[in-house]
Amino acid sequence: MRREIRRYVENDVTGPDEALDAGDAEAIRARCREEFERGISELLEAAPPAAVAPRRRRMGQELYAGPLGLAFGFLHIHERTGEREAIERAADYLDVALEAMERSSVPRPEEWLSFHASGGLPAVAAVVRDRLGDSAASKQHLEDFRRVAECAAKTDFPTEDLLWGRGGFSIGAAFLRARLGEASVRDELVAAALARTIETGRRHAREHAPDLTPGAHGCPPLLYINFDRFMMECFARSAMGSRSRPARGLAAVAARVVMWIGERTEHLSHRYDIGLVHGLPGALYLMLQFPELLAGHAATNEVRASLDCLADCIDAERGMLELLPSRHSEPEKCTDKIHWCNGTTGAVFLFARAYELFREPAYLDAARRAAEQVWRYGLLRKGNGLCHGIAGNAYAFLSLYRASSEKRQLDRALHFARFTWTDRITREQRASDRPWSLYEGRMGTLCFYLDCLDPARARFPAFEVDAP
Ligand SMILES: [Zn+2]
Repeated sequence: MRREIRRYVENDVTGPDEALDAGDAEAIRARCREEFERGISELLEAAPPAAVAPRRRRMGQELYAGPLGLAFGFLHIHERTGEREAIERAADYLDVALEAMERSSVPRPEEWLSFHASGGLPAVAAVVRDRLGDSAASKQHLEDFRRVAECAAKTDFPTEDLLWGRGGFSIGAAFLRARLGEASVRDELVAAALARTIETGRRHAREHAPDLTPGAHGCPPLLYINFDRFMMECFARSAMGSRSRPARGLAAVAARVVMWIGERTEHLSHRYDIGLVHGLPGALYLMLQFPELLAGHAATNEVRASLDCLADCIDAERGMLELLPSRHSEPEKCTDKIHWCNGTTGAVFLFARAYELFREPAYLDAARRAAEQVWRYGLLRKGNGLCHGIAGNAYAFLSLYRASSEKRQLDRALHFARFTWTDRITREQRASDRPWSLYEGRMGTLCFYLDCLDPARARFPAFEVDAP
């Protein structure tokens, strides 16, 4: 199939070469260890805590690309290796992020719901302080996160988006509960936030389902229109005019979202994004993080029905359709985006998780179909990072490997690790603007190398947050 914009480098491994023998796999793992050790030394030299004070103060609090992300990376390393030095490094970068928050004139954490924005700061701080034995400080940070939780349960937030919306709160809650116990973020708080997310999904489905062309399983009973430009602009404008600090904080988020979509889309009113970060797959994934809260909930059937509809959108040849088919747009439109954040990669994570929980063979098939696309088109020119890079795509194979125990998926992850240092690939890649960051830079890739050494415990950082 001809692709107009080549976002990827051709995968030249085909047929029987895909299966790695024990010697090849061991050689790749040995190189992963070397790359990891060298990369950490270079990171500490090129981007020590004193050097990563953010240019913009708010960025200090961002897990995605700020010092907080480096703190998370070192926490991830500590969880794999148990090394004391790693958690001390995490604390060093955390201090930079906390200092940025102190100096910041932007709203307090409870006004920022997302784990990847400021909501992650008290969550990561609570765990890092706990691991260092400072339980008083840990409790204080936990208190801050609970205020985020109360906000998530009440606020009429403009998006359920996983990076910038209420969805991010759910990641933070799952992260904390897996590490500090379920009492750290009480069931009622999580359930109230999930109920809000479900209600948004029902409302958007009611409003927009008449526009959709039903698939084999009909139209999804939950839908997330996180990027309705008109809605966001209205929200940003009204909040900008507000005198209250929370509203201005939300406006900053909204303005950022509007900027992002403005570059990418033209006819939003009739487009239904089904990417992981901004659309239905992300919302479903988050609900599946809390199976015990979902069990018996009235929305369980809607979650299952929505999963069935999404599975229909994964085409074996063309990957995941970018949009749910609409009466107003070309139903055949498909994407060549194979990113964790947007496109087919997210479907691998979602359906691997769904299969783990429900043991429904159709979900495993859907994950395999999506993984096939990641294998063919996932060697991204955008680099080796997590959000839209080779390491992020490779984590999808590791996720499916854990769910299915298929050696093939593990071999694919190791091939992708090797591709990150193969000249033919790296020559074609462009450098990241934020070269050491967790989500776009080398910190994420270093976490991936480490996870290749122990794939059963591999977890995509700050997304697959159950305890390793
Ligand atoms: Zn991305």
